[in-house]
Amino acid sequence: RLQQRIHGTTLEINLNALTHNYNFYKTKLLPHTKVMVMVKAFAYGGGASEIANHLQQLKADYLAVAYTDEGVALREEGIKLPIMVLNPVQESFIHLQEYDLEPVVYSPSFFQQLARFCEVQGIGMKIHLDLDTGMHRLGFEEEHINELISLIKKYPKLQIASLYTHLAGADEEEHQDYTLFQLQTFVAMCGLIEKNLDYKPLRHALNSAGIIRFPEFQMDMVRLGIGLYGVEVSGKYDKHLKPISTLKTTISQVKKLSQGETIGYSRKGKMKENGQIATIAIGYADGYDRRFSNGKGYVLIHGKMAPVIGNVCMDMTMIDVSNLEVKEGDEVIIYGPNISLKDLAERIGTIPYELLTNISSRVKRVYY
Ligand code: PLP
Repeated sequence: RLQQRIHGTTLEINLNALTHNYNFYKTKLLPHTKVMVMVKAFAYGGGASEIANHLQQLKADYLAVAYTDEGVALREEGIKLPIMVLNPVQESFIHLQEYDLEPVVYSPSFFQQLARFCEVQGIGMKIHLDLDTGMHRLGFEEEHINELISLIKKYPKLQIASLYTHLAGADEEEHQDYTLFQLQTFVAMCGLIEKNLDYKPLRHALNSAGIIRFPEFQMDMVRLGIGLYGVEVSGKYDKHLKPISTLKTTISQVKKLSQGETIGYSRKGKMKENGQIATIAIGYADGYDRRFSNGKGYVLIHGKMAPVIGNVCMDMTMIDVSNLEVKEGDEVIIYGPNISLKDLAERIGTIPYELLTNISSRVKRVYY
């Protein structure tokens, strides 16, 4: 509350909604299927340590972050769950060891670098192998398999905790065949690798949309991301999820303006008629995208829609409130349960993931 008075903008996180979403996905899974939750990028903007803590209470099986420092921060907050690091750089190997983080290994050269590091340190390490079946981002390709198997045999101290692949279009009907091709390729690649091991790594392939659309491929574990945060990207179960975050700000000032007067930088906003505008305490430096300028975005004030007028500024945005009764200090909802993130994202040609992860660190997160 203090922060709200200082800055005016808060991101409220509803942890009960998060529990609801977690349990919803659990109903789509068999009892033995493990859940790895993606808490990278500050848990999709929601705040990594608080959300990881909550997931620990919910008994999630694994967490995943993109970079080593994200994992280090979670350990320093006392998170005990196993943590997979998607894209660790060589300079961070020592921190992987020190903080008990499990790196993803995605190429023969990276495997070798990590193995040599472990040899020098005289340690073993749990690793996860990313198999590229068609995402073409990171990962071992089919042509690397023989080399990979030789490396696995040469360096048995690197223990393969899991084999996984990432789907390029699990949320889109039009890519159904491609997704199935990826999943089948994954199963075949896993078979080749596992033949050379005397233990069985976990297999996992499905993201949030994959869980909904291809549950028959849930294997040993799934990797839940955006769905947990309340956005159902496959479009099938929109009503079953609860948005977990509400981004709120307040009106700093209300101004009466006459027809033809211009608003903000480059004078891009213009009053069509006599009316009034409200200046709200959020701008692109808070993560309120500048593409929302000039009517592309809208906010809710007392439950009513009000469009952005003029260009979004760094710390402030002007809203056309000509048809509303508003006053300084009134609450403004940027997004939340009654404003669809998917709709907002579409208006500016992006995806809900970007809107969520762009909320900057100066916006105070409040949990309830
Ligand atoms: N797995 C990997 C490797 C990812 O990079 C991501 C997110 O980008 C996910 C799983 C989760 O995806 P989603 O948020 O669509 O569930």
